[in-house]
Amino acid sequence: MKISKMYVHTLRDDPAEAETPSHKLLLRAGMIRKLVSGVYGFMPMGYRVLKKIEQIVREEMDAKGGQEILMSAIQPAELWQESGRWYAYGPEMFRLKDRHDRDFCLGPTHEEIFTDIVRSEVNSHRQLPLNLYQIQTKYRDEKRPRFGLLRSREFIMKDAYSFDKDQDGLEKSYQDMYEAYGKIFTRCGLEFRAVEADTGAMGGSDSHEFTALSEVGEGVIAYCDKCDFAATSERAQCVDAPFDKEEKELPLEEVLTPGKKTIEDVSDYLQVHPNKTIKMLLFKAENEVVAALLRGDRELNETKLVNALGIPEHLLEFASEAEVQGITGADTGFAGPVALKEDLKFVIDSELIHMKNMIAGANKTDYHLKGVNYGRDYQGGIIQDIKLIDEGHPCPKCAEPVKLARGIEVGQVFKLGTKYSESMGAFYTDENMQDKAMIMGCYGIGVSRTMAAVIEQHHDENGIIWPISLAPYHVMITVINTKNEEQMETAENIHTTLQKAGVEVLLDDRDERAGVKFKDADLIGIPIRITVGKKVVDGKVEFKLRKESEKIDLSIDEAISKALSIIEAK
Ligand code: ATP
Ligand code: MG
Repeated sequence: MKISKMYVHTLRDDPAEAETPSHKLLLRAGMIRKLVSGVYGFMPMGYRVLKKIEQIVREEMDAKGGQEILMSAIQPAELWQESGRWYAYGPEMFRLKDRHDRDFCLGPTHEEIFTDIVRSEVNSHRQLPLNLYQIQTKYRDEKRPRFGLLRSREFIMKDAYSFDKDQDGLEKSYQDMYEAYGKIFTRCGLEFRAVEADTGAMGGSDSHEFTALSEVGEGVIAYCDKCDFAATSERAQCVDAPFDKEEKELPLEEVLTPGKKTIEDVSDYLQVHPNKTIKMLLFKAENEVVAALLRGDRELNETKLVNALGIPEHLLEFASEAEVQGITGADTGFAGPVALKEDLKFVIDSELIHMKNMIAGANKTDYHLKGVNYGRDYQGGIIQDIKLIDEGHPCPKCAEPVKLARGIEVGQVFKLGTKYSESMGAFYTDENMQDKAMIMGCYGIGVSRTMAAVIEQHHDENGIIWPISLAPYHVMITVINTKNEEQMETAENIHTTLQKAGVEVLLDDRDERAGVKFKDADLIGIPIRITVGKKVVDGKVEFKLRKESEKIDLSIDEAISKALSIIEAK
């Protein structure tokens, strides 16, 4: 392909709105174009990469017996009402009505649709197991669409759904998908970890997330170097701190803490460690106000809190300042569990109930209470681990200090069980003529997000460095002087030879300065560059790999065979 004929428009400068390397480089290299916030189109170079990722996904899914189908993006509300998610899914769902006032959505995911298809056509154990998948456009009205393809509102997902007769079958299907995902992300050149994950709004029991390690990732994983523990920070169980069983309960005492509103201020002022204070956070959860209580030096894990409450995440929001004042009768910063004006639902971190003589807000502006003890001074509540794990906390498996890393969630696998098959009536008749609910699993990969994640891991200050497996083209032939007949002829010959050998090759025949051409080749990230310049009179061309700085002069034949061997090795 000749660049002069190609629809590719690179930008010299970083677009102002782009924050992460992948977002900047995808735009600058002319791979994607933005329509509106979180909605992108793929240009020829970018679309080639996307199709390569899709192809890798397809091959690995097929290798595990997956069968590809393509379902519609438009989905009727009735199916979501059957599963109970029409309400639970919340504002992330793009909803629309047709001319007859019937409700629809643009699919954010397809559990309901696949369950519906299978329930109407599968009724015997002989038709199971089944793994159906699609590579299709998803719609989610994200609260914060950002970072280009990393969190967009329209994106490409591979979603697969497995249907099994029994739990053993599900275990096998899940294991198969887990293995396929490992192969897919390895072939894409990603450095990733598979970690235990929360099941969230999807429902079901076990789940793993595949996380591409990256500083720009919105996810945090906790892992242990001493054992195999690895989980998302949302999921990671925390170990309660030890406590002094002998400590005697002291009487409650009100102390003046003028203007001391934060844990830090209060503990400094009263000369105690923050782990002797109680942090109380007030939320509105669906229709009630909830107080989450934990030790002052801990951070709240909101996922654990919504799980404890059994509500979807979008129904939890911080209480406003006015609401806090209404409930506590005091300014914010002085809320505590003792002597509240109104009864609140408490969710109390499991470690807090053993802590003696704590300091908490007095529900009176400028005052705190000393000597606060669970059981005597405040009672009840849902008692659960609602802490967020942090670097150095003890590993829940082996107690060694855990480490944290940031990453991008590129895929997630779930054991769903019978949540959808039971609510939507996906049953089959077993060998003994008994009706049973199918056991399901679901498995997603962010195909377009993976493209961005690969760039986050493979770039330098000059541009993208595509692994051969995903590169839009393998080789860029750069002609230094297009007016020089010998240079042009040699370049065209190399182009033809490589093309015949099945190499995806570009010929930069533009009437531009060499510097401009090199810059574009680096920006777009073509793995191999062959430069045809003056030395062609001696039968030599220059050979360079995008990921290395070294350039070598080779004969034309040598350059061709070196390119071929590098591409074949991949
Ligand atoms: P996140 O926590 O990042 O919002 P999710 O848990 O909502 O992701 P899933 O419902 O498991 O995601 O969707 C399957 C895959 O789709 C994810 O692993 C991710 O790679 C991709 N994905 C999800 N949301 C987006 C998005 N807004 N933009 C691009 N890819 C996405
Ligand atoms: Mg999401």
